Amino acid sequence: MSDIVYFFKNNLYINLTNRCLVKCSYCIKYKWNYNFYEYNFKLNKEPTYKEIIHKLTLKLKEYPKVKEIVFCGYGEPLIRWKEVIRISKWIKNNYPHIKIRINTTGLADGYFKKNIYKELAGVIDTISISLNAHNEKTFNLLHKSKIPSAFHKIINSIKKAKKYFPEVIVTTIKHPAIDIAKIKCLAKKLKVEFKERDYF
Ligand code: SF4
Repeated sequence: MSDIVYFFKNNLYINLTNRCLVKCSYCIKYKWNYNFYEYNFKLNKEPTYKEIIHKLTLKLKEYPKVKEIVFCGYGEPLIRWKEVIRISKWIKNNYPHIKIRINTTGLADGYFKKNIYKELAGVIDTISISLNAHNEKTFNLLHKSKIPSAFHKIINSIKKAKKYFPEVIVTTIKHPAIDIAKIKCLAKKLKVEFKERDYF
């Protein structure tokens, strides 16, 4: 059975989709056959709003001390940005003390040709944008995005996110082809938080 809401490191996470805008060469969903520790993230069908709310309600009873709910699974959650808004509003109405974060590639706006961040403003507290390359060439080498100038678009996405969300975090995996120091420096220039993530 697929896990659509799961507990990890004191937070609850929502696995909304398996669809992605990029095909990262280092993605663990292929290496780990869609498993993540004890969880199975393979979605035979994407969960509906009702199914997610049902699972969330159960998990929040099981883990009442949760302080943050994160949209993050094996896929780009903003592909289903309308559901992200609906679910976030439900969380804000029922659990106003819980913060909401979205983990994204930062490429959804370009894909939908729409200012999605504007739609998400007010319901999402933190946006965490992956910047897994220090330049366009490395980005194209490590990812197979159909979106042209993806690296450049992610930088613009980080700048834009600052206008709409209280907290913006840039994350990078510790991959040997990525110059982490350069990205750290870029995050500093953009005045956003920076975090490194493990490379499996
Ligand atoms: S965006 Fe995430 S889930 Fe999708 S291919 Fe990249 S690492 Fe894997």
